[in-house]
Formats: sequence, C-alpha cells, structure tokens
Amino acid sequence: MTQRTLALLPGDGIGPEITEATRVVLAAASEAFGLGLAFKTIDIGFAALEASGSTFPDAAFEAIRACDGIVLGPVSHNTYPARDKGGLNPSGELRKRLDLFANIRPARTRANIAPRAGVPLDMVIVRENTEGFYADRNMHSGPGEVMVTEDVSIAFRRITRHASMRIAREAFALAETRGKHVTAVHKANVMRVSDGLFLECCRSVAADHPDVSYDERIVDAMCAHLVRSPDQYDVIVTTNMFGDILSDLASELAGSLGLAASLNAGETSAMAQAQHGSAPDIAGQDIANPSSLIGSAAMLLTWMGQRENDAALLKAADAIDAALEAALTSPDLRTRDLGGSTGTQAFAAAVAAGLSQVSLAGA
Ligand code: ATP
Repeated sequence: MTQRTLALLPGDGIGPEITEATRVVLAAASEAFGLGLAFKTIDIGFAALEASGSTFPDAAFEAIRACDGIVLGPVSHNTYPARDKGGLNPSGELRKRLDLFANIRPARTRANIAPRAGVPLDMVIVRENTEGFYADRNMHSGPGEVMVTEDVSIAFRRITRHASMRIAREAFALAETRGKHVTAVHKANVMRVSDGLFLECCRSVAADHPDVSYDERIVDAMCAHLVRSPDQYDVIVTTNMFGDILSDLASELAGSLGLAASLNAGETSAMAQAQHGSAPDIAGQDIANPSSLIGSAAMLLTWMGQRENDAALLKAADAIDAALEAALTSPDLRTRDLGGSTGTQAFAAAVAAGLSQVSLAGA
C-alpha cells in the first residue's frame, strides 16, 4: 500500500482541538479506504515559540516540506511578537514559500442548517494568495509596510500578470466542472492600473473558455449583491484581500463560519486550512466546531487524488463530505455555534463512525 504522510500543524487557540478532531476523521478514512496515511505532528505558533524562539522555525518548515500534504490549524499571528523577535505568520510563510497561489474557499448551504441568506447558495471563491494587499507577501526582502514618519505609514499592494493569469485559469478550470459561470471581483474604478491588469488577465482567460459565462463586479457592489442574491454566483475570482473578506461574508450567509473549509493549492503542494481564525475566546473548552478543518482535509484528499489519479483518495474525500453532511444534519450532534451541546471530539467521533458506515455501504 502507498504510504503518505500528512503534516499536522496544531497551531494556536482552538487549533490543537480541531486538528486532533480532523486527525481522528482522517485516520478513520485511511482505515476504511486503505489510504496508508501516517501523521506527523509539527509544532508551530506559540508552542514553537516557547520551545525554539520562533513561531515558524526552519526545522519545522523542512519537516513540513517533506510531507505529502499539510493540515494547518488556525494561528493567532496577530498576537505574535514582531518578526525580529521570532513572530512569523506560519500561514503566510507556507503560502509564500510553497507558492500555494490559489486559496479555494467554497461556501454552500447544508441540509437542515438554515442559511442566513434566506436562500440556498453554492459558490466557490477563488482567491489569489501570493500578493495583493498582504504586506508579508510582496517584497523580495524586507516588509511591505513601512512608517515614513511617525505619523505616516505606507503599505505596498502588488498585482502581477503572472499571478493574475494563473488564478484566473484556476477559476475557469473550476467553473468548467461546476455551474460554468465566473465573476471577477475588483476595484478597477479606483485602482485602474493594478486592478485593471487583474481584469485584463481575467478577460483574456475568459476568451479561452467560450462555454463559461463571465461577468465583473466592483467589490463594494458585490457585498450588496451577495446579500441580495447569493444564489446567482458560481465561481468568484478575486485578489487576495477582497477574497479574504468576501469569503467570510459568503460563509456566514451559507450558515456559519465554523463550517467554512478551504484549500491552499499550488503546483506541487497543498494545505488544508479552515477559513476562520484561532477563536481564542472559546479555546480549550471542547466546544469549537471542527467541521471547517475536517471539510478542508477532505478538499486536500481530493487535490491529492486528482494529482495522483487515485480513486481511493477521491472516494475517501467524498465519504468524509457525506459523513460530515450527515452529522450536521442531525440536530443531536450540533456543536455550540449551531445551537447544540455536542463537544468537538464527540462530533469528530460521530463523523468518523459515519464514515465507516459510508464505506461499508460502498461509497
Ligand atoms: P483570530 O485572532 O485568530 O483571528 P478571532 O476570534 O478574532 O481569532 P475567528 O477565530 O475567525 O476570529 O472567530 C470569529 C468568531 O467566530 C469568534 O467569536 C469565534 O469564537 C467564532 N468561531 C470561529 N471559528 C469557530 C469554530 N470553529 N467553532 C465555533 N466558533 C468559531
């Protein structure tokens, strides 16, 4: 049997709890579908800072890079010390160093969980991950955010043809497998040069996909459209920060941020990562909803399965989704954010048990 090692990075806040819950589900999937998964837990974040003086030590990166896939727990990087005191954002570092250029963020309603939007929705936000308004991504060396005087700060926003073309290609390829519609979200009415370049790239890729319909929305209007008629959207492609903000809106409209899965994908590596942060307000109480990271892990298995052309990985990913859906459908199994009282680990155990049933039924 092929052996595959997944790096598990517990992170901060609720990270260790939801990462353990995800491990339990992945281990059950490995057993049920013969995936040969092994797990390597690697400390990052505050645990690593305490042990080795950095939230993202070089040794951790080397160990992560040697694995076949990555599951990243949320990190509290906004409370880390400055970079020169060891506070590196593991999420940003991994996206940049492994060139995980596409952040795929689905938002869809689930059976029995009322969408806040009032109507069912099923969309995927394809967010550029390696540049844009993210100060830690844009420079060859040094920070992309500077204090010019004590009272004046400047941040750099980089938009390149290379990154815009490849994220547009990713979005159209995805749309080909779904509803065949792409919406590019931008602010080119103000950022004429940079978002103008982004739109030029989207339009040129659209011309290569005549069977996929294409339209454009200005980001502020898009917020109103998402609330008003979220069922109109299929694949949304956008730059880094707009994608980050719109995906929280879309996920919450679909039901809850606690359900929001995502994958960071590159040419040769991929990383499962929940859309939400480390939720320090509920950490250590076994009440966090692990669905987001479990769903992200299923996306990782799909990515690995497509890449390796491996039917077992693809089946396992579908089975995790089905078992997750079934657990979420049962009102008795809800975690606190969805109005129930089931604990994080008990919820994961129910998904894992459901998975064995799905595999026995021949999923
Ligand atoms: P960070 O500082 O890491 O960004 P945060 O609390 O500011 O953390 P989020 O972690 O995204 O931001 O959380 C926003 C809200 O959603 C919080 O009230 C948090 O408790 C809740 N939340 C986030 N993730 C989950 C989850 N998996 N289960 C339940 N509630 C969650």
